[in-house]
Amino acid sequence: MMENADWLETRRKGTESMADDRENGARHVVPLRVARRIEVGLLGATGAVGQQFVRLLAEHPWFRLTWLAASERSAGRRYGELPWRLAGPLPAEIAGLPVHTLRPGAGPELVFSALDAAVAGECEAEFAAQGHCVVSNARSHRMDPCVPLVIPEVNPEHLALLPRQREEKGWRGALVTNPNCATVGLALALAALRPFSPRRAVVTTLQALSGAGYPGVASVDAAANVIPWIDGEEEKLETETQKILGTVEAGGVRAHPVAISAQTTRVPVLDGHTEAVSVELAEPATREDLLAAFAQFSGEPQALALPSAPRQPIVTHEGADRPQPRLDVESHGGMALHVGRVRPCPVLGWKFILLSHNMVRGAAGAALLNAELLVARALLNSLGQVDLAAARG
Ligand code: NAP
Repeated sequence: MMENADWLETRRKGTESMADDRENGARHVVPLRVARRIEVGLLGATGAVGQQFVRLLAEHPWFRLTWLAASERSAGRRYGELPWRLAGPLPAEIAGLPVHTLRPGAGPELVFSALDAAVAGECEAEFAAQGHCVVSNARSHRMDPCVPLVIPEVNPEHLALLPRQREEKGWRGALVTNPNCATVGLALALAALRPFSPRRAVVTTLQALSGAGYPGVASVDAAANVIPWIDGEEEKLETETQKILGTVEAGGVRAHPVAISAQTTRVPVLDGHTEAVSVELAEPATREDLLAAFAQFSGEPQALALPSAPRQPIVTHEGADRPQPRLDVESHGGMALHVGRVRPCPVLGWKFILLSHNMVRGAAGAALLNAELLVARALLNSLGQVDLAAARG
């Protein structure tokens, strides 16, 4: 998959320069293209996140979904025989695919994982050992010191953990994870505020029902109610954010020192996690500074124009009643973070509301963007399939 960190850096510079073009003095981003779509597999294809993967992969310019796996309950049937729970039709080319059991070594090199965490830990490790590149949503390996936990706009440099991962685990393949669905919004927002050195943050979430998978929370518990607890979620927000904002060093990732206190609640919203955030910054800033930092925040996915990258990762709202899940969560393909109500906080200095799509930016879309980054950085074994030299066009 990769020779060493130097090689990785060389390829990174190579792809960056391909995307950097100048016409009449203006920067012009040239999207990378692959010569032939890369075959991908999907573990946990039948779940709530799995179906989002199927939807997003159906028209993906780089990836072609050819192999599906789930539990013994689903295996042996055609995907189209199983319940499809998303709006819009099941893509015809997927309906006829058989659902396999989880058998490491079977399926394409690149596999996405939307597995239940109860099985993801062991299964993903076995797939990576067998030479697969696993791009996972599950929590099982996120905090492993040699597993990158990546938001491509925030910490693409954490992919430098992969050579060490291969050495320590003895895997022929690799494992890369994306954060918990509530973490991604907080980490993106705090990353945009890095110029002002976030010191402490308090966050209270209002998380959508779809975040609990299918069938999720019982309807009689969820309707017209707020459930003030989500198992394990507060710790994930506090620790994953520090890892994502942290620095890669010899022993792994040195966690960012920002102290985070999280409270998480489940609310009767279908899709979209809202979070009320207060933050203390070490550096002085005005409201205009913060708004500009959010609106101008950008990263490697935008520089490379990766297929799933929103043009603007953070969209700011001026309306006092925005962002709202029903009005805003689907815009920008569900990949943008929405920030509104930026105002002074009498306790910590600043506060704001954020909203992100838990099934897209917080799950399937996050993993797709990670996989696109791996391809753009030429980190798959089989990259002979991909002709990044054909990038210009
Ligand atoms: P889900 O709807 O419960 O789907 C779970 C998937 O795992 C199904 O495909 C299921 O297959 C499979 N599975 C369960 N037990 C299995 C077993 N023993 N062997 C093989 N496969 C098994 O859950 P989800 O909401 O899609 O979440 C999937 C993963 O993504 C979880 O790790 C979750 O924490 C994470 N995640 C979810 C969200 C979100 O917003 N929902 C966001 C970020 C991350 P069958 O259908 O055959 O049982």
